[in-house]
Amino acid sequence: MKVAIIGGGAAGFFAAVHAKKNHPTADVTIFEKSKKLLAKVKISGGGRCNVTNGCTDIKVLHKAYPRGGKKLKRAFRTFSTPDTMEWFESRGVRLVIQEDNCVFPVSQSSQTIIDCLMMEANILGVEIEDSHGVKTIKRVGEQLELGFGAKHPAKLMDKVIVATGGSPKRSGLEWLEALGHKIADPVPSLFTFNMPDEPIKKLMGIVVEKALVSIQGTKLKGDGPLLITHWGMSGPAILKLSAFGARILSEMNYECKAQVNWVNEVNNELVLSELKQIVATQGNKILANYRPYLLPERLWHFLLEKSDLPLKKRWNELGKKGLNKLVTILTNDVYSVRGKTTFKEEFVTCGGVSLESIDFKTMQSRVCPNLYFAGEVMDIDGITGGYNFQSAWTTGFIAGQLG
Ligand SMILES: Cc1cc2nc3c(=O)[nH]c(=O)nc-3n(C[C@H](O)[C@H](O)[C@H](O)COP(=O)(O)OP(=O)(O)OC[C@H]3O[C@@H](n4cnc5c(N)ncnc54)[C@H](O)[C@@H]3O)c2cc1C
Repeated sequence: MKVAIIGGGAAGFFAAVHAKKNHPTADVTIFEKSKKLLAKVKISGGGRCNVTNGCTDIKVLHKAYPRGGKKLKRAFRTFSTPDTMEWFESRGVRLVIQEDNCVFPVSQSSQTIIDCLMMEANILGVEIEDSHGVKTIKRVGEQLELGFGAKHPAKLMDKVIVATGGSPKRSGLEWLEALGHKIADPVPSLFTFNMPDEPIKKLMGIVVEKALVSIQGTKLKGDGPLLITHWGMSGPAILKLSAFGARILSEMNYECKAQVNWVNEVNNELVLSELKQIVATQGNKILANYRPYLLPERLWHFLLEKSDLPLKKRWNELGKKGLNKLVTILTNDVYSVRGKTTFKEEFVTCGGVSLESIDFKTMQSRVCPNLYFAGEVMDIDGITGGYNFQSAWTTGFIAGQLG
């Protein structure tokens, strides 16, 4: 049996080693278009590779995927985060689960992950052909013919696993569309917000640990730490929002109003009673010197100025109007978003081969027998935290069964 894996990234390597392990007599070859193997693994997680996530509860885990979560829920029953950890650790890669549940190699170097995958492929006898970009796949009876353009002769294969990663443009998926697969238009996911007109940028570097950000006129929400940057806003709350809202935000051309709830409390009555409590107990203090919800000092002063409340005013001089102003700025502080910036630590593509074209029990195409998919080429993507690699390992593992 001749097996081709198209793409030498995380999903391609994992699919290849499992295909060879499950079918030791098969010829298994990875065809990689560039000269570099596992290039994204190398740069991942700022060079440290956030290889998976410490979450082991599948009911929670699948929610980290704005697209593909439902299908992955079933796939995780076959290969999930503890399996990933076990797989690497049993091959000598020591891993550490950080406080935020991100899992990294103890070496803090992505090269450790690359070495492990390369070694495994080598031990098992997986062939690797770099500089072999596949341009077409043609059905020839039960077999599949890979076309490489003028550079290399076409090759007939019995089974093919497509693991070509995310394509930023629809045109990059046309060769798969030509076989009958449905395509979800690709748009970027995991980005930060540009706010060119907002003075809050002068507070760059400030982090608010528990913020809630929503997009006016939509149901989109993202919570978690929010980081103010010199171009606008970033941090997990914004990244989550950008992932779940990838398609809607693209349709809005990344121009919208972000409503920031600095205290992550949607019940305004509760916020008001918290502020009244301050008036009752700290009423003699000036606003500048007593911060509600332990907000960072510079941010608190900024918010007071934005609400036209003098820093020197005393808490007990606020009155009903003043307190209401504060409730509004703390829970519904509006900023204009104009454009996005790529999050350099990690970005992925929303869209790709539509999941309705794939049988998730095997990862086999529903329209082209003997063709399988693994990784980001599919319409699957996760938020930051090692989830994207986990989906590559899970789908690569299943595709490698060649079932
Ligand atoms: C800067 C950055 C940091 C990241 N950090 C993390 C992280 O720490 N944790 C995490 O979970 N996720 C991270 N991600 C996301 C993660 O890297 C991807 O989701 C993951 O690499 C997808 O794996 P893949 O094998 O499907 O695709 P890829 O890694 O993109 O691999 C696809 C391969 O296929 C090749 N290829 C494409 N077309 C063809 C063709 N026609 N013929 C032959 N070969 C082809 C490509 O050259 C490439 O080598 C990061 C992404 C970026 C950009």
